[in-house]
Order: sequence, then structure tokens, then C-alpha cells
Amino acid sequence: MSAPTDLSTVHDLIAAVRGPVLLPADDGYAAEIAAWNVANPHAPVVVVGATGTADVAAAVRWAGQHGLPVAVQATGHGAVRPAVGCVLITTNRMQELAVDPAARTARAAAGVRWSRVLEAAAPHGLAPLNGSSSQVGVVGYTLGGGLGPLGRTFGFAADHVRAVEIVTADGVARTIDANHEADLFWAVRGGKGNFGIVTAIEFDLFEVPALVGGGIYFPATHAAEVLHAYRAWAPTLPERMNTSLALLRLPARPQLPEPLRGAFVVHLRVAFLGDVAAAERLLAPMRAAAPALIDAVGDLPLPAIDAIHQDPVDPMPTRERGVLLGELTAEAADALLGVAGPQADVPLVMVELRHLGGALGRPAAVPTAVTGRGAVFSLFVIGLGVPGLVPVVDAVTDAVLAAPGRAVVPGGMMNFSGGAGPEVLLSNWAPADRDRLLRIKRSYDPTNVFSTNQAIV
Ligand SMILES: Cc1cc2nc3c(=O)[nH]c(=O)nc-3n(C[C@H](O)[C@H](O)[C@H](O)COP(=O)(O)OP(=O)(O)OC[C@H]3O[C@@H](n4cnc5c(N)ncnc54)[C@H](O)[C@@H]3O)c2cc1C
Repeated sequence: MSAPTDLSTVHDLIAAVRGPVLLPADDGYAAEIAAWNVANPHAPVVVVGATGTADVAAAVRWAGQHGLPVAVQATGHGAVRPAVGCVLITTNRMQELAVDPAARTARAAAGVRWSRVLEAAAPHGLAPLNGSSSQVGVVGYTLGGGLGPLGRTFGFAADHVRAVEIVTADGVARTIDANHEADLFWAVRGGKGNFGIVTAIEFDLFEVPALVGGGIYFPATHAAEVLHAYRAWAPTLPERMNTSLALLRLPARPQLPEPLRGAFVVHLRVAFLGDVAAAERLLAPMRAAAPALIDAVGDLPLPAIDAIHQDPVDPMPTRERGVLLGELTAEAADALLGVAGPQADVPLVMVELRHLGGALGRPAAVPTAVTGRGAVFSLFVIGLGVPGLVPVVDAVTDAVLAAPGRAVVPGGMMNFSGGAGPEVLLSNWAPADRDRLLRIKRSYDPTNVFSTNQAIV
């Protein structure tokens, strides 16, 4: 079936949905498809601005009738591949959010970002398991695993999903949970967008009476001391202490404070459930490792949780990939510094080690397709996704991810797997889980309608 090229061929789609239906020549098309990650511009044959489940179902059915693949976008933070020659469903109009403080749960529609959940849950002393940036979408983040600043304490976001509302390739809207279509419920929590368009999820909130959070920036001159101190210190920490360490090449933006502007810095991020005095005691070895440029760890209101990682908010071009590590030896730390330390002239934005373990290492109460439970660190690289630099970024990323050598262990989250092809993505799963995922994929999406972005087939 050839792709529709003018409005006359999409009149039945326009009639079937309440939201806008836009073709490439239409005003508003460019704004509708715009993504946070601008490295991989989308070019769908038609974009549908869904207003609810009925719109999503109609768009999926229409795509099926015309033999077109279906892509979905909430915020574009996960646009690691361009959505081309497909029907793109945008979910930013789907903003329904309800918090149930008694049940300690929330239900968020497909377009909700974490910032709204944080604001709605905080007055009840409750927190979601959001990631480093509250601008990221709840659904995409959770389906891809969801490793956030409170992960060691409570686990992956995907592990704490109660129910998923999903439109599958046949255009049918289903509500799935541990007792209804349990196979699909397992696959979608970790297997991301390969099984349908999720219209809403219901998930747990957690009691967080007090959070100590923030970050310590160290200068390039002490990168080695800080990295070596971190690799020895992190594995000694209790589950209440969540940390990560990033080698950052920061832009020369006037918005950044002077010591960070245009600088290479090492950023220790901290999220501790407890009081400041206990956090200070745990942080002492890192503070002793080197003098800080900025030291800002203290009581943190939950809606201000972005202050921990201080991720960029404005759209930018990124190219990313990660692996999991079973340990970080002194040799591996030196090798990392060799390829990505302050002396290296490389187009990287960030090389990040997140400390795993704790609740992240335990299976979910209702098993999910999230892998890598035995890993001790996640190693994640972000480079500049600028056309001329891509081959260099890819080569440097390869070198960084290979630096830990045999410490690399199997597994990996979709959220940190970047734009790899199906074969590499599937290698995140052990053979039995891989077979199970593919079996479920064939059963619910036999013609591979959901074959865009991080596709496993
Ligand atoms: C600044 C930044 C910080 C981040 N921090 C973290 C972090 O701390 N931890 C972490 O785990 N990840 C993190 N991520 C990765 C992020 O969770 C993924 O990129 C996630 O896919 C973003 O979801 P989104 O909906 O916002 O993005 P989008 O680009 O809109 O969607 C990305 C993909 O998510 C899937 N998806 C989105 N909506 C739906 C839906 N309704 N139904 C089915 N599939 C859907 C699809 O596969 C889609 O292609 C971060 C990313 C960025 C850019």
C-alpha cells in the first residue's frame, strides 16, 4: 500500500479522530513532530495528535488498513531513531492524572510528564519513581525500565506498575495487569514500545518523608582521585543512599555558574532518604577525596528533585548508549579516564556511572522484562548527535564502553540502549526471556506494526 500523500486519502482518519491529523505540507506538522532530541528528525507520512484512547485506537486501525507502521511520541526525550514513513501518534494532549493517596498509587495518561506527578504526589508525602529529569514522559520512561534517583531504595519504575492500558496492533484497547494478559504485562514493562500504544498506566507511589539531595562538582584536575574514591565508596553504601558520578563536558552557557561554564567537571549526584547529619557522615569520604567547585547537598523538596542531576532542559542533539558493569576495578577506572578523562579531546557530553544494587538487584513482586539485576553500575555515554561528529562519537562511545573490559555484564535497559538495532537490543535479554519476548511480540503484533524507534524485530 502506498503512503497517503494528500488529505483526500486521509479523510476517513480525520473523521475517526478528535485530535488534529497533519500531513507534511500542513501548518503545525513541524511543531507536532518536534522532539527533545533533535538529532533524529521525524518524517512521518501523517501525524495524529491523539486526545484519548479512542483516537489512538482509530489511528492504529487506520495504519493497519494502509500497511503503515506506527510510532508514538510524548516528549521526544527518547527519539533515538527517526520515525519515518509511518503514522506518528503524539500523546501530549493526553494529560489525565489522578493520585490516590490512600492506595498510594497514581494513574497517568500517555502524555503526562513526571513534573506533574511529583507536584500532585508531594502534598501527600508521596513520591513516584521518576528519572533524573522530570521533563521526561511517565509512560516511555517506565516502559523502558525507569532507573531514577530513588532506584536503589525502591527499584525500577517498571517494577511498580499496577496496570497498563494499551492499544495493540489489532486496534483493541486492553487493560492488562498481573492477572489479565500477564504475558503482555510482563513484556511491556521493560520491552518498551514494541507491543502497542500505552494510553495510561497505574503505578505505585512511595512514602518519602525526607529527602537529602543535590550534587558536588569537582574540578578536572582531581578527576582521577574522585573516580577512584567513588568506585571504592559506592559499593559500601546502604540502600537509602542513591548516587551516580558523571564526567561532564559542559557548554560555555551564561546560565551556568562560572566554575562550570565550558568546563570539564566530575559531578557526584546524591539522593538520600534520611536526615542531613546521616547523609553528611556517608558523604565524608567523597568530600575528603578532593576539593569541590560547588557543594550543594541538603534537604530537598521532592518537586525539586531535578536539582540532583541538573539535566539539560532545552532540546539538544544527543547520541547515546550504555552497558552494565559487575564491578569497577582500579584498572577499569584508569581505562575510562584514558579515553574520556579531561585530557581527551572527544565530542562527548557525559560519561555516567550510576550505582545499582539494592532494590534494583531484586526481582519485582510481579516479574518484569527488566534485565541486569546483578549489575553494580550502569555505564552510560551521551555524545553530541551532530551529523559530522556521529562517526567520532560512535568510535569514542565504543572505546568508553569497552574500557571496563570483562567487568561488562549481560543485560541493559531500553532507556539506556540508544538507537541500536534489534539484534543488539535483544542481546539485553537472556535466551529464554528473549524467546518469550519474541513469542509475545508475534502473538500481539504479527505484522510488526510497532517497528519504529527501539524495535526488537
Ligand atoms: C534528559 C534525559 C534524562 C533521562 N533520564 C533518565 C533516567 O534517569 N532514567 C531512565 O531510565 N531513563 C532516562 N532517560 C531516558 C528516557 O526515559 C527515555 O528516553 C524515554 O523513552 C523517554 O520517554 P518519553 O515519552 O519522554 O520520550 P518519547 O521520545 O516521546 O518516547 C520515546 C519512546 O518511548 C516509547 N513510548 C513513549 N510513549 C509511549 C506510549 N504511549 N506507548 C508505548 N510506547 C511509548 C516509544 O518507544 C517511544 O519511541 C532520560 C532521557 C533524557 C533525554
